[in-house]
Amino acid sequence: MEPFRGVFTQQEAIPEQAVNAAIEVLRSGRLHRYNTLGDELSVASELERAFARYQGAKYCLACASGGYAMSIALRAAGVYPGDAVLTNSFTLAPVPGAIAAVGAKPVFVEVTEDLVLDLGDLETKIAESGAKLLLLSSMRGHLCDMEALTELLGTKDIVLLEDCAHTMGASWNGRLSGSFGLAGCFSTQTYKHLNSGEGGLLTSDDPQFMARAIMLSGSYMLYERHGAAPPEEVFRTIRLETPNMSGRMDNLRAAILLPQLADLDDSIRRWNERYDLIAQRLSEIPKVRMPHRPGEENYVGSSIQFRIPGISKANAINFVAENKALGVELKWFGDESPVAFTSNHHSWQYVDPQDLPMTDEILSGLFDMRIPLSFTLDDCEHIARILSHTVNQSTGSGTA
Ligand SMILES: *Cc1c(COP(=O)(O)O)cnc(C)c1O
Repeated sequence: MEPFRGVFTQQEAIPEQAVNAAIEVLRSGRLHRYNTLGDELSVASELERAFARYQGAKYCLACASGGYAMSIALRAAGVYPGDAVLTNSFTLAPVPGAIAAVGAKPVFVEVTEDLVLDLGDLETKIAESGAKLLLLSSMRGHLCDMEALTELLGTKDIVLLEDCAHTMGASWNGRLSGSFGLAGCFSTQTYKHLNSGEGGLLTSDDPQFMARAIMLSGSYMLYERHGAAPPEEVFRTIRLETPNMSGRMDNLRAAILLPQLADLDDSIRRWNERYDLIAQRLSEIPKVRMPHRPGEENYVGSSIQFRIPGISKANAINFVAENKALGVELKWFGDESPVAFTSNHHSWQYVDPQDLPMTDEILSGLFDMRIPLSFTLDDCEHIARILSHTVNQSTGSGTA
């Protein structure tokens, strides 16, 4: 078997147009978002306008990271220290981290075999916890039935915030992820759908919520210089009672993001070509279970997940090692010791331990792979061949 030589952490270069826009900002010296001349609109404000338009949202705030967007969203939504906040058991560390940042307590909701929030368990946890808010994390881009979810939350009077780190550009029944609840939180960290190294975007149609979020982000009294903000009078009631928790985006990062946003739909098409090819090949391997993706879901295949149900620990470790030896980098979510980006609830010991048997079972056989756009379709064929080979090699025994 010919090893694969591509690099799984290698993203595409920043487009030339974005490089030029960044140089222009550097030459101007005006990197801070409020450093404007006359009534010039800062690049950060332009980005807010463009992303609000893309998302079909009234308001948008550009900020320091996806995790930061979530933490100020929780605060702006009125979450206080000690409050219970519902969230997915299968998610990435910044999600429980954002809940911890406001002193609240994550209540984890089980994951289904299709890697989405378990709505039955959600109903149970709503009743048990008395939580008033769900921070929904569409982890690795898997959307739950958003209509069933919003209906359930509506009957229980639960506020919805969406973590769209992997669903920027994805939709359910034609409606964009991030537009189903009070707010959508997006990341522009290197491994997400737009790349500014670090960065976050927060969208909402609620003027009071967005005014608080803008004040929290560290706007001083310069909020009228924002690109997609509520009217000035909305700020009058909250501007002195809302703390400044500096986490602004600067013009340099915004300049890099604007041209990428214009290309987002094309990037999504290219991701899905790659995803669909690998998914097709994986679905032909008897031992592998691909998550079912309903017709209502328009996903962005920037990474791929598959399960080998019943795989033993030893075989899972072996499987990852064999792939590594052949140049294919997999993450195994069942690993006991946290590796790189952690996504197993047992690693988050600042949270009260929770009994999540379904999640533990799913994670024990769940594998994950990035699909950078720097890979060609031939690369994807090559990777799929290696995976078919290693599934059979290293999972011979101990597999259900
Ligand atoms: C990356 C990520 C975030 C936010 O990440 P930042 O690094 O803070 O921008 C949030 N949720 C999930 C599921 C993520 O993968």
